[in-house]
Amino acid sequence: MTKILVVEDEAKIARFVELELTHEGYEVDKVDNGRSAVEQALENDYDLVLLDILLPQLNGMEVLRRIRKEKDVPVILLTARDAVMDKVAGLDAGADDYITKPFAIEELLARIRVALKRREVQASTPVPEGQAVVEPDRHVLSAHGVTLDVERHEVVANGDPIELTNREFEVLKALMENLNIVMSRERLAQLACGYDFVGETNIIDVYIRHLRSKIDDRYGIKLITTVRGVGYVIRES
Ligand code: CA
Repeated sequence: MTKILVVEDEAKIARFVELELTHEGYEVDKVDNGRSAVEQALENDYDLVLLDILLPQLNGMEVLRRIRKEKDVPVILLTARDAVMDKVAGLDAGADDYITKPFAIEELLARIRVALKRREVQASTPVPEGQAVVEPDRHVLSAHGVTLDVERHEVVANGDPIELTNREFEVLKALMENLNIVMSRERLAQLACGYDFVGETNIIDVYIRHLRSKIDDRYGIKLITTVRGVGYVIRES
């Protein structure tokens, strides 16, 4: 049976979600504070954690960090509307997805199914054993002195390795794979966050800002161009 931990301090919401999830055939545990959430999540093998951000004792972001140190369980954050930075920070800290309160239960159920499915796919993809694997033709993209190695998940600008989060990397990759093509925020969100992404696409603006401060500003280049009212593009150098 698929086990879900619901972390929510508002008793009404917690109860409602528990009833709906139980009705869908999930086994549900619920806790109403951050400390118990960490304990429960680390002591038990859950298939998914539904995590509110504003919690007593430890906030959801800290709970997420503590869980992530030890476990790879899918986590969906429950966030307040317009808390864009929370969402970005949450995804960067390793959350799989987020859903904005108040949410329709159908949407929550859909997100849960997607997160569970994604893990199933990841789990069934064999992990290559480092040294033993013969390296295939490397897939390396480049523009303006910046190279992105898809297989190695590495970005280098003017010879320096650049540290990017997963999502920043995916946004940059989407742009570099589509040189000269203006990409809308929606398209970038789909490519970087998954085809099923239904969150607010203004998080793309935040990733672009991060990329510019890590690459454009630091190396005095103009890698990513904003096309007003449309989206973003990397033009061929
Ligand atoms: Ca709360």
